[in-house]
Amino acid sequence: MDCIFCAIARGEMGTQLVFENEHVVAFEDLHPQAPTHILVIPRRHYASLQDVPPEDLSIVQELAAAAQELARERRIWPSGYRLVVNAGSEGGQTVSHLHLHLLGGRQMVWPPG
Ligand code: 5GP
Ligand code: ZN
Repeated sequence: MDCIFCAIARGEMGTQLVFENEHVVAFEDLHPQAPTHILVIPRRHYASLQDVPPEDLSIVQELAAAAQELARERRIWPSGYRLVVNAGSEGGQTVSHLHLHLLGGRQMVWPPG
């Protein structure tokens, strides 16, 4: 399978990981939309949140735990941050490997685009 985020997680793209554990890795977004813009992904490939079977949903908890830790490290808490999961084409998903966007360091606006 040809998936750029799987390749990054395997260390094949030379992308610096800013977090890693057994199931999760994180790295800076190539086109940052905020002073902090980190992508938090499972090592295992799921095309989107909709593709995570109920028995694997603990991975979402692990992604959230990594985001918490990164938010502390980057000092974007307690000022605040945004966690985004785009799913599917109308959801704005462009890379078909489940990922959380951790965005912070500026005032976010609502509604999102
Ligand atoms: P999506 O639109 O699927 O929610 O988010 C995909 C994100 O991945 C985008 O913000 C895009 O900038 C980022 N991205 C796409 N390709 C690469 C890459 O090769 N390296 C990194 N670091 N980020 C990427
Ligand atoms: Zn993948």
